[in-house]
Amino acid sequence: MLKGKTALVTGSTSGIGLGIAKALAAQGANIVMNGFGDVDAPKAEIVAAGASYGVKVVHHKADMSKPSEIADMMAYAAAEFGQVDVLVNNAGIQHVARIENFPVDKWDAIIAINLSSAFHATRLALPAMQAANGGKGWGRIINVASAHGLVASAEKSAYVASKHAIVGLTKVTALENAKSGVTCNAICPGWVLTPLVQKQLDDRAKAGNMTMEAATTQLLSEKEPSLQFTTPEELGALAVFFCSPAGNNVRGVAWNMDGGWVAQ
Ligand code: NAD
Repeated sequence: MLKGKTALVTGSTSGIGLGIAKALAAQGANIVMNGFGDVDAPKAEIVAAGASYGVKVVHHKADMSKPSEIADMMAYAAAEFGQVDVLVNNAGIQHVARIENFPVDKWDAIIAINLSSAFHATRLALPAMQAANGGKGWGRIINVASAHGLVASAEKSAYVASKHAIVGLTKVTALENAKSGVTCNAICPGWVLTPLVQKQLDDRAKAGNMTMEAATTQLLSEKEPSLQFTTPEELGALAVFFCSPAGNNVRGVAWNMDGGWVAQ
């Protein structure tokens, strides 16, 4: 379905971004990876997912808190593949503390990485998407928000603010391109067992002197009625749906995949 197209997935060395990159590669898209840490192992997973299409996978190490590095990454993607057809704004970080104790540098980093980076990548990706398909436009922008883009939790002020804001950015991007083939939608996962959540589980187990199993049950039962983690594979399948012809007129949604979290 995406053969010949290019998808850039920020924060795709790990977790949800890696799951989405694999799902898009399995549909034939070439992939521009981004993110920190080991690159070789996740890159091999994406190459394997797209093996039947012989997809090409490259990596750019832009720090998504730095607009100039985001611009370098977008220019690199255009130089490698011509243009970005699918942009997945996924890179994100978390910090948990009450507002009066919230470190100012953590606030700034979360807003920069979880929110402003999506604005910068989107503004740089849009012109080529709008010009595609003989000027009718074709493009898919998928913002990885969160259940915390729809409802709040205590001690997550910067994260909740950034995720509510990216849902707003999603709607504006969708509206400004509504007459073209460029769509923009948000995915709002509940708990997904990635390094970002593992750290919260570790902290919870330590603070409560609990086993990891008890901490996991407690974490899920507070928010997620299904008592199951959402998986990167399930989120990847939703991203593929947004890229499909059936997604042509899906514009500005914030689709929760959260085991019932925000239905309560
Ligand atoms: P993760 O920690 O597994 O992956 C985060 C990715 O972002 C990694 O590739 C990391 O290298 C990259 N990254 C972090 N800071 C970066 C920076 N400054 N520049 C470039 N890359 C950077 O986390 P995850 O759980 O897969 O989270 C991915 C997205 O999903 C985030 O936006 C997060 O808020 C969102 N999300 C996660 C959950 C969950 O339960 N895990 C739930 C809802 C939403």
